[in-house]
Amino acid sequence: MTWSLRIARIAGTDVKVHVTFLLLLGFFWFSGGPAAGLLLLALFGCVLLHEFGHIGMAARFGVRTPDVILLPIGGLARLERMPEEPKQELLIAIAGPAVTLVIAAVFYAWLAVNGTPPPLLPSLRVDPGGFIETLYRINVLLLLFNLLPAFPLDGGRVLRAILSARLGLVRGTRIAASVGQMLAFVIGFYAIMNGELLLLLIAFFIFTGAGGEATAVETRIAGRGLAVRDMMVTDFRTLPIYATLADAAELLVAGEQREFPVVDNLGGVEGLLTRDDLVRGLAARGAGGMARDAMSSGLVHLAPDLTFDEAVQRLRASRLPALPVVDGGRLIGLVTLDNITDLLLIRRAVGKS
Ligand SMILES: [Zn+2]
Repeated sequence: MTWSLRIARIAGTDVKVHVTFLLLLGFFWFSGGPAAGLLLLALFGCVLLHEFGHIGMAARFGVRTPDVILLPIGGLARLERMPEEPKQELLIAIAGPAVTLVIAAVFYAWLAVNGTPPPLLPSLRVDPGGFIETLYRINVLLLLFNLLPAFPLDGGRVLRAILSARLGLVRGTRIAASVGQMLAFVIGFYAIMNGELLLLLIAFFIFTGAGGEATAVETRIAGRGLAVRDMMVTDFRTLPIYATLADAAELLVAGEQREFPVVDNLGGVEGLLTRDDLVRGLAARGAGGMARDAMSSGLVHLAPDLTFDEAVQRLRASRLPALPVVDGGRLIGLVTLDNITDLLLIRRAVGKS
């Protein structure tokens, strides 16, 4: 996700903050004074601990987490992959709420020891309270909200894991996604009737998250049994290392290819010039600039016998529209987002007939 700043790196995971979160922090600080800003920072810490509950459990199953992003509506730990084993997904999904439960229990105990135990189930209405009491209340709400059975919330993952242990991953995901979308409708309807803008935003977030998860799983299943060599583009053009941006622009306009590998004299891949790289390069350097100065470099290379699933995950992780397929140091193909989409459409059409 763009528009986020890396603020720390903890146990191999980048901690990023979305710009909108910083805006929210600034807004609270100036409108509510430093106390409101500090409260938001403390909540930020609680959400981060919750996310590291997921990250720690995932690490136990050998799943790494490249980054975690903090958004105004919560955290998002992006696991490198989801475990296929429903039991593992269940444990990873539940580890976050378990951490939040512990945090809430600690705040509750602190308040009880100091003689002011709050009601166990706080009300939704924001009534002013002490610092710790407010933290307690928000953590309880966070816990309950996260346990709603709707993707991409933790409760939705728990539901999917339980369903897919019986019905298989595809049917389990489909049902869990439908449940999530129905719930999003109900929440959205309530939000509109009561003029709750933030809740409407959350409903929208749940609705799109549920649909996205169902698509991701179908993609994975449709690509089963395929290797990179079966899906790569083999008919493509490359740019030599001495090519200018004008040469690249000519190639772009002449055909349908949008990403061009930049290769050295021996056929080794030096980088990839995407359409965005080209546009940015032309703006910064002009038509006479070198393609190699504008290209994306340090690319991940895909091996031809890599599985479809792995290739798609690496392509997504790279945030590039294409990656080179390299065999014995030589470029033999390209895997692009467009050709994956086409391939899946064909496979689905064939599978249905
Ligand atoms: Zn969570």
